[in-house]
Amino acid sequence: MNKTKQMLAGVLALSLLYVVTPAMAASQQELQQRKNQNEQNIKNQEKAIDNYEVEIEYMTRDLQNLDKEITECNSSIDVLDSQISAMRSKIKESERELQDINKNIKSKREMLEKRLQAMYVSGKTSYIELVLSCSDISDLLSRTQLISSLVEHDTGLIESLENYQKDVKERKSELDQQKKDLSGLQELLEKEKKALEDKATEKEKMIEKIQGNLEYARTVRQQMYAEQEAIDAQIRAAAEAREREMAAKGQKLKHYNVSDVGQMAWPVPASGNVTSEFGRRDTPFAAIGDFHTGLDISAPAGTPIIAARAGTVVYAGWGGYGVMVIIDHGGGLYTLYGHGTDGSISVSNGQQVSAGDVIMGVGSTGYSTGPHLHFEVRVGGNSMNNAVNPRQFL
Ligand SMILES: [Zn+2]
Repeated sequence: MNKTKQMLAGVLALSLLYVVTPAMAASQQELQQRKNQNEQNIKNQEKAIDNYEVEIEYMTRDLQNLDKEITECNSSIDVLDSQISAMRSKIKESERELQDINKNIKSKREMLEKRLQAMYVSGKTSYIELVLSCSDISDLLSRTQLISSLVEHDTGLIESLENYQKDVKERKSELDQQKKDLSGLQELLEKEKKALEDKATEKEKMIEKIQGNLEYARTVRQQMYAEQEAIDAQIRAAAEAREREMAAKGQKLKHYNVSDVGQMAWPVPASGNVTSEFGRRDTPFAAIGDFHTGLDISAPAGTPIIAARAGTVVYAGWGGYGVMVIIDHGGGLYTLYGHGTDGSISVSNGQQVSAGDVIMGVGSTGYSTGPHLHFEVRVGGNSMNNAVNPRQFL
């Protein structure tokens, strides 16, 4: 048999093995796939949740900063408020002062007028004409000899009042300007505050939205956890069902006339080192406990494996157990020898063998962690599902 043919036969045998395997095993595999997929989904979901949480944390920090800025804005606005109101009362004070000054000037002018009139009436000179022709009071003072000390005093008073009036007016217009500046500043701050508040509102909305996403993601994750539990339960149930089925088969065989089948030869005469019994176990390859359908006998690579009983070779080549041989013993009884050394098979398909004939050497092909023989006995058909405990025949 050349390599291609061997491999093709192997593939065929493998597919045969799977075809005859009941739906339960296939569903086990399916369940495992679903479990793995769900685990991946949970991991992704957790990553998404982490991201949402981080996002919310950052945004909350931003929001806190905005709130702090708004508070600062508010206190600045308050400070400006009190400055402006102080300015206002100063302005009012100036206005009152101006009113007083105006009143004062008016009364002083009236008094001066009276004095001048009195002087005119006394007929000393046509003084009023002189006053009217003069441009200002000082001019008048310099040009006339007729002013009495009282007039001089009055005009001096008016002049200083007018100067004072001018000062107050200047001060008031300065205050007006300052108040205007402060109001402008306050307006700017109000605008800034409004912008900050808008930003904060937007942030709050975003946080709310992400919070919603987060809640939803957590709900989905919860569903995934539940799904995972359901799958695990199904896997356990399937494994238990299979175990029960296997046990029932073994039981059936006890009623089967074992003596009719007869004793089998120990398949590896050089080794009695059994590393794994028939039954449920944890394999290095399966994530969950699976059912071991045979007996593992460990021996150095190349150690001869013999036919446990006379029969016809129905399979020799690569298969589900690496390099393997299956012998049909008639009446639905089969023996399987797995994990042989590549190229060590010394029998061929269709060949008649006797008990004790060397069929291949121990190896570690297929799913194997070290050289050993996987010895399987099948009753009632050539299927993994028909495997029974080989110990009954050895
Ligand atoms: Zn095994």
